[in-house]
Amino acid sequence: MPKYIFVIGGVMSGLGKGVTSASIAKLLQLTGLKVACAKVDPYLNVDAGTMNPIIHGEVFVTDDGGETDMDLGTYERFLEENLSRSHNITTGQVYKAVIESERRGDYLGRCVQIIPHVTDEIKNRIRGVARDSGGDVLLVEVGGTVGDIEGLPFLEALRQMRLEEGASNTVFVHVTLAPVLDSVGEQKTKPTQHSVQELRRIGIQPDLIVARCEKPLAPETKEKISLFTSVENRCVISNPDVEAIYQVPQILFEEGIVEPLCEKLQLGNRKVNWGNWRETTDAYTNRTGVVKIAMVGKYVALPDSYVSVNHALAHAGAKNGFKVEVDWVDAERFEKKPDSVNILDSYDGVLVPGGFGNRGSLGKIMTANHARINKIPYLGICFGFQMAIVSFARYVCGLKDANSTELDERTSNPVIDLLPEQKNVTDKGASMRLGGHDIAIVEGTLARRLYGSATIRERHRHRYEFNQDYRSLLEQHGIVFSGYSDSGRRTEMLEIPSLPFYFATQFHPEYVSRPTSPEPAYLGFVRAAIERRMSKNFPPDTGSSTLTVPRSKL
Ligand code: GLN
Repeated sequence: MPKYIFVIGGVMSGLGKGVTSASIAKLLQLTGLKVACAKVDPYLNVDAGTMNPIIHGEVFVTDDGGETDMDLGTYERFLEENLSRSHNITTGQVYKAVIESERRGDYLGRCVQIIPHVTDEIKNRIRGVARDSGGDVLLVEVGGTVGDIEGLPFLEALRQMRLEEGASNTVFVHVTLAPVLDSVGEQKTKPTQHSVQELRRIGIQPDLIVARCEKPLAPETKEKISLFTSVENRCVISNPDVEAIYQVPQILFEEGIVEPLCEKLQLGNRKVNWGNWRETTDAYTNRTGVVKIAMVGKYVALPDSYVSVNHALAHAGAKNGFKVEVDWVDAERFEKKPDSVNILDSYDGVLVPGGFGNRGSLGKIMTANHARINKIPYLGICFGFQMAIVSFARYVCGLKDANSTELDERTSNPVIDLLPEQKNVTDKGASMRLGGHDIAIVEGTLARRLYGSATIRERHRHRYEFNQDYRSLLEQHGIVFSGYSDSGRRTEMLEIPSLPFYFATQFHPEYVSRPTSPEPAYLGFVRAAIERRMSKNFPPDTGSSTLTVPRSKL
């Protein structure tokens, strides 16, 4: 019978509930248990695919083609395992299923209600994930914060699960904040007290409290939280700021979270076997150099829009002993002031990530061109791959009006065009080319050297692709297309062998990068950036890296 850990957030959003959840799961995994994670999101979207990444953060794509909440990426990176789309349950999916059942007549004669019909559907889905993952433990993180109206049916379902599964099979972890407001430095417990009261009002008493804090909780702070929340003192766990999120499992371990967790879930006396996780974590504290990357895009307002890209860069950097500093550059800036593209010269590498639509696209085309002319290492991802092709076709092959039909439907040189199967697609939800596809790599290419393999599997999220009518023209001018999928029909990678590192992929390599095994495209890119930095003898730089965890983010 699977055991459940329910993680519910309190006080405010942005506390790093996802990282806390993933870290708890990781610790249990390191004790030899089979652990899976699921996220419930109380919004009405069926999946995250239709949400703006500036508001909601990155859309994480699973191998089976799910467009999911970015926390699934955190789980995959920590657990180092692929999760399926069913591990992200939304209100939209739940209501859709209940309403479809109602229309089919499954509830004939009855009044369909939140309790029990919606809550039953939630419980069925959670149990289904536990069953399908075949694990010993399923950790379920609830999106949002206790007190949110839309989260109520989920919390009610979890309350019922405690009753039905029993206390030895369920644990409630409440993640809160212990802020320090005055110069005296006292850690405030009132927000945690109120948050627990709110939880209790709906019938949930937490078993453990994990409090986010700048510095570890003082013994008296723990005592106070314990007294006012009826949570045992040893179950009040500090979760202080750390340099790199991958250190959090270690912190929670030192705080002694494993013992009460295993005791409450009757999992026996379990020992954590760190394996190569420690080494991986140490790499983040032993970074000696800094490499600077310009990320040119549209969704620059919220770093979470490209969270997997940031992590993939950090994984590759740590492997080489370097911190990767990412500066977000607004592509539109270059359109307004073309000379400003020269700012890219001061970077060690330039990355154009995935994107959609016209706004900022010319700036990205200019970026791809500038990196090519000035031999700056370039990594293009999805839209960044497409814009590199448009730029090459325009500025090297002389097709002045070359474009993607996403940006100009009437272009006379559609070097990027709609995927054939997309021609009749009208629905926007879950209709792109999504998820993992096998890719064949051409022999004798940079791609082949990077991946060291003839086939790889990578994840996708796009509607447009390279139009192969232009293949020989571009090849004649020096581009090498180094990867294909769907028996050669889809072009997946390009490179320019005459340059130090000019590489782009139609797929999103960041989704499969893990701290212990950085993704090869990112590794190659970061290595090339380090080489450029060394050759230029740039002064050593210090400063925050993308994995330096800001207080509010963890
Ligand atoms: N907009 C492009 C397409 O749909 C690229 C998508 C992306 O970058 N994820 O093909």
